[in-house]
Amino acid sequence: MKDIKDLKVLIDSKTLNNRIKELADEINSFYGVNNPLTLICILRGAVMFYVELAKHLKMPVKMEFVTLSSYGNSEKSSGKIKAVNLAIPDLENQNALIVEDIIDTGLTLDFLLKFIKTNCKVQDVKLAVLFDKKCARKYDIEPDFSAFEVDDKFIVGFGLDYNGFYRNLDYVGYFE
Ligand code: 5GP
Repeated sequence: MKDIKDLKVLIDSKTLNNRIKELADEINSFYGVNNPLTLICILRGAVMFYVELAKHLKMPVKMEFVTLSSYGNSEKSSGKIKAVNLAIPDLENQNALIVEDIIDTGLTLDFLLKFIKTNCKVQDVKLAVLFDKKCARKYDIEPDFSAFEVDDKFIVGFGLDYNGFYRNLDYVGYFE
């Protein structure tokens, strides 16, 4: 177990929150404040970003949650998605926005996007991510809204875990 004392700050709390507010403003302008939006949170990593983003959205918002896993307890993707909970209601005639902590290879978002398009009768579905590890991408998928681009290193905090821990940190860091 790595010690939190060795975690170097990559992005502090104020910078994260300011940028999430900016991203929410982009989303408000894109959809318009009168058009309802269904926000789909990918648990557990996206939880902090999801809540912070939702606070600044001005349109009527519905909140849905799915639980997916591709990492287990490792620092590398297993290459397979474990769908723990995929209970999404019909999204007929709705605009949906998937909210994810980080896009790495793209496997998780590619899987969920295809699942929702095939099963939920959605009108439109887009992707918002807090972090984009562009250099690690293996699937042909790009987020529609992205807060920060990060290098290909394992980051921890603000929803992102290390062996299940440290998701509660209000900043993001990395172990050297
Ligand atoms: P992808 O399916 O795009 O390869 O990976 C997405 C998932 O992998 C994220 O939801 C997250 O759970 C995990 N992940 C990817 N990069 C990191 C990272 O740097 N730190 C942590 N804690 N998880 C990561």
